Amino acid sequence: MQAGHAIGVDLGGTKILAGVVARDGSIVRRHERPTPQDSQEHVLAELEAAVAELLDDSVGAVGFGVPSPIDQARGVVVRCVNVPLEDAPLRDHMRERFEIPVGLDNDANAAAIGEWRAGVGQGVDDLLMLTLGTGVGGGVVSGGKPFRGRNGAGAELGHVVVVHGGRPCQGACTGHGHLEAYASGSAATAAARETFGPSADAHRLVRLANEGDAKAKELLEEVGGYLGSGIGSFVNVFGPQLVVLGGGFGVAAYDYLRGPAEEVARREALEPMRSAMQLAKAELGTAAGLIGAAFVGFETVDAAEST
Ligand SMILES: [Zn+2]
Repeated sequence: MQAGHAIGVDLGGTKILAGVVARDGSIVRRHERPTPQDSQEHVLAELEAAVAELLDDSVGAVGFGVPSPIDQARGVVVRCVNVPLEDAPLRDHMRERFEIPVGLDNDANAAAIGEWRAGVGQGVDDLLMLTLGTGVGGGVVSGGKPFRGRNGAGAELGHVVVVHGGRPCQGACTGHGHLEAYASGSAATAAARETFGPSADAHRLVRLANEGDAKAKELLEEVGGYLGSGIGSFVNVFGPQLVVLGGGFGVAAYDYLRGPAEEVARREALEPMRSAMQLAKAELGTAAGLIGAAFVGFETVDAAEST
């Protein structure tokens, strides 16, 4: 029997967003609690509590979206940047705790799956999504299936070089000139502070642009140009029909990023990928991750039933 509902859990740096999700992507019930910052045990306990709060007989699977590369073979969270979770066997842990199929994915993959199944990407077989927030996350759906690469950790689209020998990347990343260093909300905040002083940030930059500030618009358009360099390369690799821009900063600044990003991406992309590519704004907002995580749960239960 097919599971009617799955619980999706989106682990963020400040909040755990969880929900019971139906097969059509609608959220039946929601639950939210803060993300602890003190220890791995505490994070695991709060994730368990979020699931326990929502679990009932209609739920056939649980899926987690986690801000970390995932070792899919072992079901292990490799290392979160801003949550104390490292080398954590989350899949087996939750399977044993709740005796239910458990799926695990990177949070940006989950967001891409959410937009594909229930958002702007419905009916599209080849899609890629970039989530612009603290970092730049990426998720790819290729040929009607989520793309995860050999070890399940793909696709880290934010850590692709757009400027050879450029700015150092963020956090634990040792790279230089990565898209994340130029097109994330953090990069926009750095640019805002340089021009508007230490209290400015990415959201203030968008507000100023909305008020007609020419310098703010120019800074956002510059970010859009870098984004376009990344998108042009991704389009040449994956040949998507749709490129979705999401994440807090990506959605807020969409109107300023889109034009320059599209112009540069079309310059860099080759035919026939160039003409096939469309850009769109994410539709599901902050729910994309939890909805997509629930579909990662459905995927697990469906795979088990087809074998
Ligand atoms: Zn990087």
